[in-house]
Amino acid sequence: MNNLFDCAIIGGGPAGLNAALVLGRARRNTILFDNDNPRNAVTQESHGFITRDGIKPHEFREIAHRDISKYPSVIHKKKEIFSITKKEQLFELVTSDKELYQSKTIIISTGLKDVLPDIENIVDYYGKSLFNCPYCDGWELRDKPLVVIIEEQTQGFHFIQTVYNWSKDLIVCTNGKSILNAEQKRLIQNNGIKIIENKIKNFIGKDGQMEKIYFESGDNIIRKGGFVLPQPIQASDFAKKLGCEYNSLGGISVDFYGRTNIQGVYAAGDASVFAPAQLIIAAAEGLKAAAGVNRDLIQKEFLE
Ligand SMILES: Cc1cc2nc3c(=O)[nH]c(=O)nc-3n(C[C@H](O)[C@H](O)[C@H](O)COP(=O)(O)OP(=O)(O)OC[C@H]3O[C@@H](n4cnc5c(N)ncnc54)[C@H](O)[C@@H]3O)c2cc1C
Repeated sequence: MNNLFDCAIIGGGPAGLNAALVLGRARRNTILFDNDNPRNAVTQESHGFITRDGIKPHEFREIAHRDISKYPSVIHKKKEIFSITKKEQLFELVTSDKELYQSKTIIISTGLKDVLPDIENIVDYYGKSLFNCPYCDGWELRDKPLVVIIEEQTQGFHFIQTVYNWSKDLIVCTNGKSILNAEQKRLIQNNGIKIIENKIKNFIGKDGQMEKIYFESGDNIIRKGGFVLPQPIQASDFAKKLGCEYNSLGGISVDFYGRTNIQGVYAAGDASVFAPAQLIIAAAEGLKAAAGVNRDLIQKEFLE
């Protein structure tokens, strides 16, 4: 069958792209599926990836596809995978438009999705002046009057301290929730940070650039941007359906080479790392999973 591959990679973000590059260089028949809906699609620029600091996400992918196109054993399909089933030693992948592919191994690199707090127009601001990661976007927002939106206690308290590294002009909003204990409130206020526990109504600004935040109480505050702690969830449930185990953070459990507990199933990127979520980490994990696939296939073929 023409549609039989050494490895099928599901998800063409930095993890899947780097895995495809490494497998192409290892002369493996590889197919990369991607439906072009990455986690960072909302952002204008990506930061912190050496040689690519400030790059637009779509430019990053274009360069990656140019790199991969040098290796003839890699095929890229702009298709969504609908289902994956393990049939004896092979995996059967069906696309949403009902094409069937078979592969000896798979790498799940479908990433995560962010569930944002329930605030009217938050999606218009997320990725433009409201971000989730100070390491990614803190420099651009340094010293500005910022909001930190948290709805959860433990991570939330750590998040406030982290953002404070980039701007001392902070207001913490818990969006109608009473999550901080007395000691945490004391420490936050000792650092000159105001806490507002009212429910946020919406944001006011232009082209996603925040100017004000309105509360359901009718009050408003001037803020030029900020950070929010979304709830990340897996972008696909292929790993779960195949019987893969998850770690305590919610990432797919893998060993150093991206191997899951199910033979032939590897995972890479945000889907397995979960946090810290960074392009360069996802790309490195993609390399490790590709090396794992290649090592295991080499072993098997050598002994056959
Ligand atoms: C707002 C924001 C800003 C960020 N800024 C930065 C930054 O500045 N620097 C940085 O290092 N990191 C940044 N990140 C984090 C970074 O985006 C992630 O760590 C990185 O994208 C993870 O790469 P990945 O390959 O694991 O997943 P992704 O990049 O999310 O790629 C997963 C791919 O899988 C595809 N996919 C999913 N399901 C299917 C399916 N069923 N079939 C086919 N394809 C599928 C998706 O379309 C997607 O293209 C940011 C994240 C967010 C949310």
